Amino acid sequence: MIIECPHCHRTVIPRNYGECPACHKNAEDSRNADVTSTLLFITEATKFPDACCTCNAHTENRIKIHRSGRIATSQTSRDQPSWTLAWLVLLSFGGAVGRVMDSYFGLGDYSRTNRSSLTVYVPQCRLCSATNKLESDVVDLEHCRLGIIVDRNVAEKVENSNADVS
Ligand SMILES: [Zn+2]
Ligand SMILES: [Zn+2]
Repeated sequence: MIIECPHCHRTVIPRNYGECPACHKNAEDSRNADVTSTLLFITEATKFPDACCTCNAHTENRIKIHRSGRIATSQTSRDQPSWTLAWLVLLSFGGAVGRVMDSYFGLGDYSRTNRSSLTVYVPQCRLCSATNKLESDVVDLEHCRLGIIVDRNVAEKVENSNADVS
């Protein structure tokens, strides 16, 4: 059964006895849970209202969340770092040999597509950003999106304003 963990707001399949695999709290026990916030997925195209994501106060302040990293393409690629390195070295020494290596080991696509970065400007008032700056709690570079913990009311506003567009 897939549920939203009331503690970390991730969508999870609880383990035995309701343990959340992400935060290890009891996902089936919402006592002491933070019910005022929720996990919101955002992309570079997400439109935000002028409301602080943490406290829902009006703000025109924006903070920058930047994430970059590798996309795990397949097990094989990660298990062959030396081949990737060899390929990169050959590539920098020039065309022919590198291209042969590329097609032979099939690493060309791997090294072209496995890096990704995301920059999103998120509304957060100066007070909240000074004490509790927003961070991405879930990084999903493969789908170009980040998960951030925001006030439920703001999440609703964001979902509504982005639904209008499509
Ligand atoms: Zn959890
Ligand atoms: Zn705030």
